[in-house]
Amino acid sequence: MGHIVAIVGRPNVGKSTLFNRLLKRREAIVDAVSGVTRDRHYGTSDWNGVTFSVIDTGGYITGTDDVFEVEIRKQAVLAIEEADVIIFVVDVVSGVTDMDREIAQILRVSKKLVFLMVNKVDSNKYVYHAVEFFQLGLGTYYCVSAANGSGTGELLDHIVAAFPKAPPQDHNVEDFARLAVVGRPNAGKSTLINTLLGKDRHIVTDIAGTTRDTIDVCYRQFGFECILVDTAGIRKKSKVEKDLEFYAVMRAVRAIEHVDVCLLMIDATRGFESQDMNILRLVEKNNKGLVILVNKWDLVEKDIHTAQRHEAFIKQKIAPFDDIPILFTSAQSKKGLLKMMETAIRVVENRGRKLKTSLLNELMLPIIQTNPPPMVKGKYIKVKYCTQLPTHTPQFAFFTNLPQYVKVPYKRFIENQLRHHFDFKGVPIKVYFRHK
Ligand code: GDP
Ligand code: GDP
Repeated sequence: MGHIVAIVGRPNVGKSTLFNRLLKRREAIVDAVSGVTRDRHYGTSDWNGVTFSVIDTGGYITGTDDVFEVEIRKQAVLAIEEADVIIFVVDVVSGVTDMDREIAQILRVSKKLVFLMVNKVDSNKYVYHAVEFFQLGLGTYYCVSAANGSGTGELLDHIVAAFPKAPPQDHNVEDFARLAVVGRPNAGKSTLINTLLGKDRHIVTDIAGTTRDTIDVCYRQFGFECILVDTAGIRKKSKVEKDLEFYAVMRAVRAIEHVDVCLLMIDATRGFESQDMNILRLVEKNNKGLVILVNKWDLVEKDIHTAQRHEAFIKQKIAPFDDIPILFTSAQSKKGLLKMMETAIRVVENRGRKLKTSLLNELMLPIIQTNPPPMVKGKYIKVKYCTQLPTHTPQFAFFTNLPQYVKVPYKRFIENQLRHHFDFKGVPIKVYFRHK
């Protein structure tokens, strides 16, 4: 069960400094293992063994100064809707400002858990100045220096203790594949959900305890049975949501945590954009299955090569993890949806695929013998055997005398061989070299 912590506040109070501090240790590890570029405004952190997602909402604000205030207000409103916990950052050096008051007002009327963080308390003399922030009417505040880390421990202790407890799971639905549609605003996600479910949506669970409840809807048609985790389609959209990228990302974060496979929907009339890429990387980082839907295909003028061209373009953008099904759909005119369900279920199966150790060794050891890892400092790297790890998602360990000398390109080669011989389409896989 994931928790989302949103950092809000006006510019220059230290939001991104805090964000970087919360992420530092863990992100470094994630990067080293997967070689994945990190998303600048979103990441995973943990404190005393409790894992949570952190979003620096400030990172999503763009535009000139005059639209700034409007954007910040929107950002606070959205953070309230989406996050479990809000860290409201203010700056002790500048004291209480009008914009602080305005944001505090928005936060006060919400029922959300808000932690007021008075930042830049680098030395004790500022502790006394911090008192003025009581006037924001948010109760206790935490004196922190995001720059040197002081006070962050106490703040995190309280935040982690305040997370809503995971609700008991409904065991009847545990066995079904869980899917979610993610993507940018306007791609057609709600349309797809509505098309699939029609009027009689049968809501099987309502996961309480999260802020915006994600809703599990049971889908049973054409021989398919799965759970659609509905975050986008279930409620009316406000204007605000439509135009904020940040919103799409939060929604994706929320959905990704609850599913096996994400259907990443892009708008064919706009092509594959950098924001689509961000969501794709989130899915990959979280080891979830992935299917790309190029939606609104009805609006594209086509010749016989159009689909091929689209596919090639997307593959080139998403490399190196490009072993992903790309389908063309029209949520509105109900085209391509059967194939979509088929493919999604296949990806669920691929994600659960377990290879016998004997089969794996029979296949991989000769390949490795013919194409061994390059020698390093005159030393041979010998791979003795390999096995699939007992994890939920496909991960493989190769045992060798010198694991530290096996470099990323060779790991890619091994991954590609695995993908070539077994069906792992749509699924991130991990390859480790270990000492033996
Ligand atoms: P954001 O716009 O809210 O994301 O703010 P930043 O994290 O970019 O920080 C704005 C400025 O405040 C930068 O120059 C930071 O180095 C500085 N800053 C952030 N945290 C602290 C702190 O705890 N103490 C001091 N003295 N400066 C800080
Ligand atoms: P969401 O923000 O991703 O949930 O997108 P919506 O489902 O609200 O769709 C945005 C707009 O695109 C709406 O006007 C839909 O009617 C339209 N739309 C969705 N899917 C399709 C499609 O396959 N073809 C066409 N032509 N329009 C679509």
